[in-house]
Amino acid sequence: MSSAADFDVIIVGGGPVGLLLANLLGQGDIHTLIVEKSPTAPRQSMAIGITPPSLEILSRIGLDTAFIKEAVKIDHACIFEEKKLRGELRFNSLAGRYPFILSLPQSQTVALLEKNLANFSSVEVRRHCHFLNAEEQQKRIKVTLRSADTRDQIQTARILIGCDGHRSDVRNAAAIPCIATKTYPHSFIMADFHDRTDFGTRAHLYFNRTGALESFPLPNKLRRWILQLDQGQNRADINTLIAGIKQRSGLDLAAADCGELNSFNVHRFVYSRYFAGNIALCGDAAHVMSPIGGQGMNTGFADAEFLADVLIKHLRHAEDLAPLLERYDHVRRKAFTVAANRAARGMWLGTRRGGAASFLRSLGISILLNTPLRNSLPPYFAMQTIPGRSLSAHHCSTQAP
Ligand SMILES: Cc1cc2nc3c(=O)[nH]c(=O)nc-3n(C[C@H](O)[C@H](O)[C@H](O)COP(=O)(O)OP(=O)(O)OC[C@H]3O[C@@H](n4cnc5c(N)ncnc54)[C@H](O)[C@@H]3O)c2cc1C
Repeated sequence: MSSAADFDVIIVGGGPVGLLLANLLGQGDIHTLIVEKSPTAPRQSMAIGITPPSLEILSRIGLDTAFIKEAVKIDHACIFEEKKLRGELRFNSLAGRYPFILSLPQSQTVALLEKNLANFSSVEVRRHCHFLNAEEQQKRIKVTLRSADTRDQIQTARILIGCDGHRSDVRNAAAIPCIATKTYPHSFIMADFHDRTDFGTRAHLYFNRTGALESFPLPNKLRRWILQLDQGQNRADINTLIAGIKQRSGLDLAAADCGELNSFNVHRFVYSRYFAGNIALCGDAAHVMSPIGGQGMNTGFADAEFLADVLIKHLRHAEDLAPLLERYDHVRRKAFTVAANRAARGMWLGTRRGGAASFLRSLGISILLNTPLRNSLPPYFAMQTIPGRSLSAHHCSTQAP
């Protein structure tokens, strides 16, 4: 479709969600510019869990096989209470093409998605390019960008998308306010270690009266360890992490095997809308949930799939944008609420401390894992039961929801 603007779509933010959206738009032959302020790709492993619905989305751009090749397939998780194995959660019973959860560092996810953009001539990628501001003018958006040589440059687009994470400058430019914030009282420390355990491709979850510990396999003989810190403790060092792992799992890990340490607190941010005029938000720019449970990036991937279909319907098939974006806001906000509530519930259950909590949790885990209820757990943790995946499944109507 011809456009009086420089680009049909400008995406701000070359994190996993922005890059996925750019790929989906590239496949739809939409003239797209994606800008990322960082000059280089990230090194941090951050999000590692990629669920079966996300793999289905990646298969739309032919990347599911490449992801599976680079990642580790987690096909089951062992659950411990006070170091005793209470049961196992098996993902090989999952319906569909991907009966596992993939584990791949976010840095590799970003690298795979960015490399694939070379296949789409309609997509231009600019790194070291900072979004500064946006102004809607006669059905076009004037976007001010600052590139590496510090010159400001105006580019125009028909639609602007903020995939620029939880501090989103695009969200601020669109004056979309935060309507609810919650900071949970939990803090965690995590690091990836050279893996000398014999856990193979298993995830291990340790619940304990002193707090939780989680462990996930990674490619290249690495393993992620995440430790819940003591109440009131916000930061910690390698010795605290190693001592906590020993106390909660019985394992001795060596400081020399430890990669970069990261501490994080847990927040939930809800914003009033996912769009304003011809500006829309996607991924962490639109919502933030607890990283415990590994759903943030996967939720952003499903946002990107839905939004790509919205943009293609508007730009290729001339459907009205406003009702499509209303539908996006309605459906994907509901999906976020379901995922964020699950993350909060899981975190609540896993982080209760003290003997009574430990006893009740142990009982609950036994009931869940040793009765027919266990069959509902793998699809739940694999995010197959989160509603609102694709626009086509929602028969987009022109009526507001
Ligand atoms: C410790 C931890 C573990 C996690 N584990 C998981 C997991 O296992 N599974 C999962 O699904 N989620 C997980 N998450 C959440 C996940 O990391 C985020 O949901 C995900 O990074 C969101 O991706 P995004 O692309 O929306 O935003 P981001 O990753 O934040 O990317 C935004 C990008 O925008 C760029 N940017 C920002 N402002 C500008 C600007 N003005 N101009 C240009 N560029 C800009 C930034 O440089 C950045 O590259 C985890 C999070 C944490 C903290």
